[in-house]
Amino acid sequence: MPITLQDCQTLDANDPLRSLRAHFSLPADKVYLDGNSLGALPKATAARMAQVVEQEWGQDLITAWNKAGWINLPQRLGNQFAPWIGAGAGQVVFTDTTSINLFKVLTAAARMARADHPERKKLISERSNFPTDLYIAQSVCQEYGLELVLLEPEEIAVQLQSDVAVLLLTHVNYRTGAMHDMAAVTARAHAQGIVCVWDLCHSAGAVPVDLLGADADYAVGCSYKYLNGGPGAPAFVWVNPRLANRFWQPLSGWFGHAAPFQFTPDYQPAPGINRYLCGTQPMLSLSALQCGLDIFTASEALGGMAALREKSLALTDFFILLVEERCQGHGLGLATPRSHAARGSQVCLTREEGLGVDGKDSGAYAIIQALIARGVVGDFRKGDGGKHLDILRFGFTPLYVGFEDVWNAVEHLRQVLVSGEWKRPEFNQTHAVT
Ligand SMILES: *Cc1c(COP(=O)(O)O)cnc(C)c1O
Repeated sequence: MPITLQDCQTLDANDPLRSLRAHFSLPADKVYLDGNSLGALPKATAARMAQVVEQEWGQDLITAWNKAGWINLPQRLGNQFAPWIGAGAGQVVFTDTTSINLFKVLTAAARMARADHPERKKLISERSNFPTDLYIAQSVCQEYGLELVLLEPEEIAVQLQSDVAVLLLTHVNYRTGAMHDMAAVTARAHAQGIVCVWDLCHSAGAVPVDLLGADADYAVGCSYKYLNGGPGAPAFVWVNPRLANRFWQPLSGWFGHAAPFQFTPDYQPAPGINRYLCGTQPMLSLSALQCGLDIFTASEALGGMAALREKSLALTDFFILLVEERCQGHGLGLATPRSHAARGSQVCLTREEGLGVDGKDSGAYAIIQALIARGVVGDFRKGDGGKHLDILRFGFTPLYVGFEDVWNAVEHLRQVLVSGEWKRPEFNQTHAVT
């Protein structure tokens, strides 16, 4: 029996998480499937920003560092969010960007590997890892005399040998939505004495993560995607407590000092995760982020991550099924694993090269543009012209996406494909941000 719009409406009516959507200020005329790139705006954020600006900054001025607790906001938010990634209190701070935090932890990992296994020269990552991760890895490799080895996901397990210093993986791949088994990969790497760094940008708040359970070494992640912290919101960094005091991170600024307000000339790293802070922290951004995290806290009464995961899998299953039922014959393929254990919270469709206007490209970019014009917001990720095809990417944030949204998105996709509307010139002009 084919799925109907009514089936989707029934699923929404029975969704135990349905009430969470009311925490977000979403445009009524849009189906937003790009929360994995920029999360939606929580309703509480605007008022919170006004309060921070007008009262805390405007009236309390410098005293707000103490009075409003600005000074330990990176740690308070870290503690609030820690359980969602299987971390303990005092182990997470929100600060800087993912790129910067990755530089800190990769350097710490490289220093540790050099101290423990100076003969090891390889840093392994995935060829289709997010580029900034690879760029930062290149810099750290240059500094520490390591060789960056980029592999396909299926090649990684056999390459985890005793000549490898560090393994850097993104838990859920941004291009495919494929998810690594963090516990299994970490155990395999540790058996060879390899330090494991995990990037949780596409998993924090989207899939269950258990850093302590997996005994990972270092982790970083983003808060403007599934955590709804706002554009450029501070990222997080976690270090396993057994390693937290081993090295300073390289950006040894005064906020990571043991006693910043002693103003001593010598750097003394703070104990634990606090040394991963660098300079003065962005209070406006951190305050906005708190509104995003508060919705996760509110969701705990409705089943928390287990319920979010169940809904996310149901949404992505439905999307895959509907695309296969209703959009056949237009050159679309599926990049995302069907297996639940290997799937994040997004679905990525591929399109073969040569199917675009005049056979120039795949047409995937233009299809996404045509969908956006209809109010269905997904995004496009470019392929490499070889094995990795162009991707149409759809993120499903279970906090606010519903089953009727899935229906509407697929129906618009079908219409865009059947009508050939995507071939219009205005959809075939590339913008700066894709
Ligand atoms: C989004 C994302 C980033 C972003 O890094 P920024 O420093 O915030 O620009 C990095 N890595 C991965 C895997 C991502 O998905």
